[in-house]
Amino acid sequence: MNKLNISEIIQERQKKNKNIQSERIENLLNCSPEYSQLIQQRNRLMGQIGIAKLTNQLGDINKKKQEVALLDKKEKEILAQNNLPLDYLDEIYDCPICKDMGYLEDGKVCSCIKKLIRQNKYSNYDLSESFKNSTFENFNLELFSKEPYKETGISPYEAMIEMLNIAHNFCKKFPQEQTSYYIQGDVGVGKTYYVSCIVNELINKDIDIIYISAPNLLNYLYDDIKHQNDLASSHKEEFKNIELLVIDDLGTENSNNFSASSLSEIIDYRIINNKCTLITSNYSPSTMMQNHVYPERMASRILAYFKVLPFIGSDLRVKKNR
Ligand SMILES: [Zn+2]
Repeated sequence: MNKLNISEIIQERQKKNKNIQSERIENLLNCSPEYSQLIQQRNRLMGQIGIAKLTNQLGDINKKKQEVALLDKKEKEILAQNNLPLDYLDEIYDCPICKDMGYLEDGKVCSCIKKLIRQNKYSNYDLSESFKNSTFENFNLELFSKEPYKETGISPYEAMIEMLNIAHNFCKKFPQEQTSYYIQGDVGVGKTYYVSCIVNELINKDIDIIYISAPNLLNYLYDDIKHQNDLASSHKEEFKNIELLVIDDLGTENSNNFSASSLSEIIDYRIINNKCTLITSNYSPSTMMQNHVYPERMASRILAYFKVLPFIGSDLRVKKNR
């Protein structure tokens, strides 16, 4: 995974905005000789205030501050005369919350940085650019057959309306209420599209999400071992602690002792710590158990803690191409 250089981004951001500010001052100086005098006067006053502070001459400070306030007012007048907006000389920030520092006063990371990290993951895990178009708005219900299914008497179309209701509710209540879902259905019935709608909706709500296919998740875990990543920087820790983990296509990875124990560990940790996980799979948890894809314990944990959402219908990919 490419690591984002956060401090570099913060510096770039500050530099860019400082440059814009300097250009604006330069521009005003060019069109108003009065403004250059004003700057000189104000700099002189600020210097005097500094000295007065050091020598504790409070009376002097207040008088000088009033003079500075008058100059500030004058500055606005000059802006107006030059048809410039009154905030033209104000400090410029990409993020007004942290004033481009990246951190808040209490030392916490600002949401703008979290967003950058998330956007970075868009490319580094399995959220590709094309994913961004997989939204509820673009969801084409007409792809689903209105023919009632023999076994259930419900058509895939009706079933999908119900599934979409569940997804909308899930997004609306997240993160206050969290239900982990195991979305199961045959290849091509729209499971991945369905979860990507959820993911896109929640990204807009600033939720920290990792969306990753099961084989790729395991690749990252092998990567941890290969690079001897310490606990804090390991992918496994990230998968355990991310606000929402979406594992796509569980059961398509090469299953072995390592994959079984690692996945169990991640899923167990998330269950114990009340963290929401969405899983899509071609297999039902019981099939997975019967076929020994995963140990019985993991399958039974999934059955106990996840709500299973069965997808019915035929391969949409065939339909789309018709
Ligand atoms: Zn910020």
